[in-house]
Amino acid sequence: MMKKPFVTKSQIEEIVKKYPTPFHIYDEKGILDNAKAVYDAFSWNKGFREYFAVKATPNPILMELLKNAGCGFDCSSKTELMLSSAVGASGADIMFSSNDTPAEEFAYADKLGAIINLDDFTHIEFLEETIGKIPETISCRYNPGGVFKMSNGIMDNPGDSKYGMTRDQLFEAFKILKSKGAKHFGIHAFLASNTVTNEYYPTLAGQLFELAVELEKETGADVAFINLSGGVGIPYTPDAEGNDIAAIGAGVKEQYEKILVPAGMGDVAIYTEMGRFMMAPYGALVTKAIHEKHIYKEYIGVDACAVNLMRPAMYGAYHHITVLGKEDAPLDHVYDVTGSLCENNDKFAIERQLPKIDMGDYLFIHDTGAHGFAMGYNYNGKLKSAELLLKADGSVELIRRAETPRDYFSTFDCLSVFTKLSKIMDEERTS
Ligand SMILES: *Cc1c(COP(=O)(O)O)cnc(C)c1O
Repeated sequence: MMKKPFVTKSQIEEIVKKYPTPFHIYDEKGILDNAKAVYDAFSWNKGFREYFAVKATPNPILMELLKNAGCGFDCSSKTELMLSSAVGASGADIMFSSNDTPAEEFAYADKLGAIINLDDFTHIEFLEETIGKIPETISCRYNPGGVFKMSNGIMDNPGDSKYGMTRDQLFEAFKILKSKGAKHFGIHAFLASNTVTNEYYPTLAGQLFELAVELEKETGADVAFINLSGGVGIPYTPDAEGNDIAAIGAGVKEQYEKILVPAGMGDVAIYTEMGRFMMAPYGALVTKAIHEKHIYKEYIGVDACAVNLMRPAMYGAYHHITVLGKEDAPLDHVYDVTGSLCENNDKFAIERQLPKIDMGDYLFIHDTGAHGFAMGYNYNGKLKSAELLLKADGSVELIRRAETPRDYFSTFDCLSVFTKLSKIMDEERTS
């Protein structure tokens, strides 16, 4: 499949007059159309809800778009809870799926009335001590151990992951939580990441549905929802095929009708916590070629770096690159596309076939809408970029300004240092 940018070169040339590169830009129409497709795919389930994984793209303007499309929010930290609260989410709009959770975060989640998803058996006691009760609605995260297999082989290795409770712990947890006053239970599991098969959710759902039937039978707990969490992937490479969310929804429905309905559990709500699938294809990092270097290999230096998009440096992840205005040019050059960090893994592409790149060309780095800006850091004193929203009407809104040196220095509370830095920043501004 051809990967096509959602902006053109001439649009970017207009945008950069106001907002210089690098920046992440998001496609409102793409986000909304996809969110609708997700809700359509699960419309057979009365209680269905997508809890957008805030960590993927923690921007309140984008969160608001998703909220208006019906989504709740999956949070794993206090600041993510605060962002959700700021866009008007409360109570059952928020899922708190954290791990290794500090007490103050449980307390804050409880204050917002969020649904708490316990990562560990010992967190029952920890939560009760922290908030003085067990909430009426509570969820537990399950880890079956071993390997997670589907018809096309091993997908992932839950036995090696730090998350969730064992099967025995889960049964015990439900009994204890019930005895402490919990009334509505949820089951959550996240067993494979970035899956590019329509089988992942249906396979996971089948396992969780069977577990839910046994849990109800053995513990008498009322299973109110089953949370399939995240893990639905997107095609990062041009040859990969995208997931078909309608087929995924239909596959989950089949398992639901086969397992839950005959067990008298046809009222169980299905929840999802997708991050990547909701946002990744609808964001891009736009950066300008500023240097070319010819040594033992050919290098193109751009004005973004791993601080703006860490996935290639961190996981060797592939992000497709389109040179804007050269969409149809032959891919007759081979480049490493690099950022400026003093780290040799700061490369957006390694030995990538691309059209001839000229200085000043704009590179559209695809699929940065999830786990893109959000993973950014400040190594080498590099600053995080702006985020822009391309609205459905073609206009562009600044939804997060770029960092400035003042932001970078703002945590030096020590007055004497900050005074000196302020003077330097002032001189720099007026020079
Ligand atoms: C990261 C995460 C998600 C989202 O995962 P994606 O792969 O982006 O869909 C959902 N739930 C939890 C608990 C997570 O940690």
